[in-house]
Amino acid sequence: MESTLRRTWAEIDLDALKHNYKTLRALTGEKVKFLGVVKADAYGHGAVEVGSTLQTLGCDYLAVSSLDEAMELRHGGITMPILILGHTPAEQVGKIMELGITQAVTCKAKADEYSAEALRCGGTLKIHIKVDTGMSRLGYLCDGGHFDTGVAGICEACNLPALEAEGIFTHFAVSDEEDEESIAYTKKQLALFHRVIEAVEGQLGRKFPLHHCANSGAVALHSDSYMDMVRPGILLYGCGPQAAKLGLIPVMTLKTTISTIKTYSAGTDISYGRRYTTARTTRMGVLPYGYADGFMRVLSDRCALMTDGGAAPQRGRICMDMSMIDLTDLPTVQVGDEVEVFGRRASVNDLAAAAGTIPYELVCSVSRRVPRMYMENGAVIKRELLLRM
Ligand SMILES: *Cc1c(COP(=O)(O)O)cnc(C)c1O
Repeated sequence: MESTLRRTWAEIDLDALKHNYKTLRALTGEKVKFLGVVKADAYGHGAVEVGSTLQTLGCDYLAVSSLDEAMELRHGGITMPILILGHTPAEQVGKIMELGITQAVTCKAKADEYSAEALRCGGTLKIHIKVDTGMSRLGYLCDGGHFDTGVAGICEACNLPALEAEGIFTHFAVSDEEDEESIAYTKKQLALFHRVIEAVEGQLGRKFPLHHCANSGAVALHSDSYMDMVRPGILLYGCGPQAAKLGLIPVMTLKTTISTIKTYSAGTDISYGRRYTTARTTRMGVLPYGYADGFMRVLSDRCALMTDGGAAPQRGRICMDMSMIDLTDLPTVQVGDEVEVFGRRASVNDLAAAAGTIPYELVCSVSRRVPRMYMENGAVIKRELLLRM
């Protein structure tokens, strides 16, 4: 590896992605279609690379959160169906249709706006109806007393002249949690989703080609929720509490290097705020990895990073561009050695727990100045720096 690369970088193992995809497909079965969620730059892994790999593997659908993300995929040569899960302003409907993208429709106001704009543009917008069965975010509210109005609203949207309802979906709030109450809540959401589908299809006199609801938690824990298509994100990347149990492999390994090692006497204050004071003669490594790279400052003095000699405790406040690790008990570790922040040897789940967050946030926080190195068959096939040059 060239010296310029020896700072901080993310290795994206496309073989691991392939393994995870195939493992999940084997789990969900041949008859179930597969939508790969690649929003937020494929959870920090690189949307075009991940999307292209999934397209080659025969994945059926991709999902993103915005038109910009969908456009990035199209410009990157991805031709497969793409669903926008989030909000798109009505003015952009023409662009969505031009690019052959599918839009989620979450309420009457959106359905009306989208249909009117699609009519104006002289086309038909392909949509998936989103049902709120208990996530309480976006979607037609159908719980309890809202059932009839929810169903009527969905039917009205499906009958609008310029909308083509290809799918209907819902999203789970606690499908990744294994306690009894969460399992019951997910079952309740699923049952309501089935009732909504039955009522809507009964009134419309036709069936949606695609019914889907299973996010990663449901793929792992609720096989009765697969329906026509599953919709996992985090499991594809080999992260989250169920990934290891399913035999999935982390796709991203975030690495940095030791740029400098200094030895301090006991009683030396380390970094901003003088929050850590050495208790003994301390051999301290400086890493070119700080919060601007995605090393959350809340992790200061609360984590350890993996060296070839073992885990090294992080010491002192994490700075914008640098941080320190204690190498006193790791005498074999030298300047230039690689340090794994998270990946196969150091689980991102553990680092996320130390930060009081979830692995999703850590992989999404790897900033754009961290180059992505795409690996296939153990070799780097592409290096991508996201900075504008
Ligand atoms: C993000 C998202 C997913 C994927 O969630 P994971 O927990 O990563 O599997 C699925 N569906 C919707 C609507 C989402 O927003």
